[in-house]
Amino acid sequence: MENALNYTRRLMKAGAKARKSLGQNFLIDDEVIAAIVKLSGVAAEIPAVEIGPGLGVLTRLLAGQTGRLWAVELDQNLLALLRRELRSAPVEWVQGDALKLHVRDLWGEQKGILIGNLPYYITSPLLEHYLQQADHLLSMTIMVQQEVARRMVAEPGGKDYGVLSIAVQTAAEPELALAVPRAAFLPSPQVDSAVVRLRLRPFPGLSADQGMFFRLVKAAFGQRRKTVLNSLSAGLGRVKGEVEEMLTQAGIDGGRRAETISIAEYIRLTEVERSR
Ligand code: SAM
Repeated sequence: MENALNYTRRLMKAGAKARKSLGQNFLIDDEVIAAIVKLSGVAAEIPAVEIGPGLGVLTRLLAGQTGRLWAVELDQNLLALLRRELRSAPVEWVQGDALKLHVRDLWGEQKGILIGNLPYYITSPLLEHYLQQADHLLSMTIMVQQEVARRMVAEPGGKDYGVLSIAVQTAAEPELALAVPRAAFLPSPQVDSAVVRLRLRPFPGLSADQGMFFRLVKAAFGQRRKTVLNSLSAGLGRVKGEVEEMLTQAGIDGGRRAETISIAEYIRLTEVERSR
């Protein structure tokens, strides 16, 4: 197989342009590309979707290794090029916005895997969109900015731990699998990147209806420098005495900060709120 750098240069010579506005930084490092495919757990019987195939460096490796493979690309010009270049590959090309895709419409009630060197300008909404589809996914293997990767895997107690960590970890076990330097892309992005592998699983003790849980978590982190007593009472619009009582019932000291509180403790707080 033609190496990724030569392949990318050839397609760019043939007219493919990297559009910054669509987060187009193409992978040119064959080792990183092979590592992502391996980490993804791709297997003959498992359906897979790739978000943002770009010039197809991941797609051409994934094709033929999965049950069925869909690739969702927003850029019509790139998609026309992909259809030509990878015409004999077993890929179902989808032109459209990955933020509107529901994997159930692709593979029904089975569970599949998601892979993508994500467009960084929409990492958070993409994560949120696909974490909501956790019931239909086995895993997600994604390239994100290193700083986002750190926040995804962060444990309580540090500045990286926040709403994103909690959103990810309530739906999945994340693993920071590979650090990727900016030189692995063409053009090089402004930041270093990392591959994160998420194994989707329900979090023990967290109910299916997570609205109240996330309302409390967001209120707690609303003013992360303040004590959780102060930030919750401001965020929920409640008097301190009431919030202090809730925290005490949940076994949480009101003098702590939101970033020190574990998911299990936020679940206890949600239970107290529910029983009020
Ligand atoms: N997979 C290729 C690679 O690794 O070289 C390209 C990755 S590039 C970082 C992100 C890709 O996502 C681009 O091809 C871009 O056009 C595509 N993209 C951007 N926004 C998108 C969206 N909303 N839905 C689907 N694809 C999108």
